[in-house]
Amino acid sequence: MAFKINQDCIACGTCVDSCPVGAIVEKGESFSITANCTECSACLDACPVNAIVE
Ligand code: SF4
Ligand code: SF4
Repeated sequence: MAFKINQDCIACGTCVDSCPVGAIVEKGESFSITANCTECSACLDACPVNAIVE
């Protein structure tokens, strides 16, 4: 998959709600993008610290 969440993530959870296909999941205290991602870019714009990168 092309989109990833890097170490700048502050675990705010905003991206989870921004994803139209529910592709971002919480794993313990971190978040990750699953294979369901359609690369729509919605989460990139939603993340307050730009932790989601292509
Ligand atoms: S790029 Fe789109 S489909 Fe992929 S995780 Fe982000 S919001 Fe969801
Ligand atoms: S919106 Fe950004 S900072 Fe918040 S949980 Fe998602 S990747 Fe992390």
